[in-house]
Amino acid sequence: MAHIVLKSPYLNDCLRWLRGNLHTHTTISDGSRPPEQVIAAYEQLGYDFLALTDHDVFAPARDYQAATRLILLPGVEVTARGPHILQLGLEAAQEPAVDRQRVLDFIAAKGGLAVFNHPNWQWHFNHFPQELMQSLNGATGIEIYNAVIDRLEGAALATDRWDRLLSHDKWLWGFANDDSHTPADDGRAWNRVQWNSNAPPTVAGILEALRAGRFYASTGVTIDTIRVDGPTLHVTAANAECIRFVTRWGVVAHTEESSQASWTVPNTPDVAESIKYVRIECFGVGSRMAWTQPIAVDYHP
Ligand SMILES: [Zn+2]
Ligand SMILES: [Zn+2]
Repeated sequence: MAHIVLKSPYLNDCLRWLRGNLHTHTTISDGSRPPEQVIAAYEQLGYDFLALTDHDVFAPARDYQAATRLILLPGVEVTARGPHILQLGLEAAQEPAVDRQRVLDFIAAKGGLAVFNHPNWQWHFNHFPQELMQSLNGATGIEIYNAVIDRLEGAALATDRWDRLLSHDKWLWGFANDDSHTPADDGRAWNRVQWNSNAPPTVAGILEALRAGRFYASTGVTIDTIRVDGPTLHVTAANAECIRFVTRWGVVAHTEESSQASWTVPNTPDVAESIKYVRIECFGVGSRMAWTQPIAVDYHP
C-alpha cells in the first residue's frame, strides 16, 4: 500500500540530551579570555561539551582536557581569504585556501566535520553567499543561529538560507552557536545532542551524533521528545508556547500554540517533492527558540 516514509535523524526515546557550544574564541586569536577561563565559564553554565575554535589557529583541546569535566572537541574557525567555515574534529589548523571547496576537501579527507558560519553577518547580510553554499560539497551543517551577530551588523538567524538550501537538495544540519569572544557572549545559543548510552559521552561519540544530525539547536527552548510514528511527527517542549512545522521553501504547514504538537504529513504521491522535509520550530518566552533538524519525507508507491 502507498505510504509516507519519514527519515528522522532522531531516536524516538532519549536517555540524555547533552548541551554544547561549538564556536568559541580565546586569547589564542581574538577572544578576551585564555582557554582555561573560557572552559571554566562553560563548566559553570552546566554544559557537557565545548569546542575552542580560534581563527586559523588550533587551540590544542587535549592540553586542557585533564583539568575539566567538559568534553572538549578539537576545532578551528577557517577564517582568512573567504567566508568562515567551522572545522571540527581535527587536531590541526589548515592553510586557508581562497577556494573554499579545497577547505572542505581537506576537512573531509582527514575525517573532520565542516559548518558554514554566520551566513547573514555583515551590513550586506551576505557573509556566505547563497550560491557559494549551494555549490560547495562536503559540509555537514550551517549555523542557523550565531549569537554574536546580535551585537554586530547583519542577522543572527539564518533559517531563510537553510530552507533555500534544503529545498534545493543541499542537505545540511542546523547548528546554533555562541561564537563567544567575551563573557557576555556565553550561554546564548547551543546544541543538544541525543546521548542514548549509559557510558559517559566521548569526543568521537558526540562528533558522530553531530554528523548524523542527532541534535537540535536552541536559544532557550528545551525539546524533550521528537518522535516519528508512521507519517506523524510528535514534539514536546515543556517551555515552548508555540510550535510550527516548516516544509519545503519555508512553508509553515501547521502551527499549534502549545508545548506539544503533532502533524501528519498528507498522503499524496507528490509529497516527496512538494513537502520534501519537515523541520520543527519551537517558540518560548521572549526571543527563546529551538529548531529541530529536517526530517526527510519520502513516498513509497
Ligand atoms: Zn566567523
Ligand atoms: Zn567565530
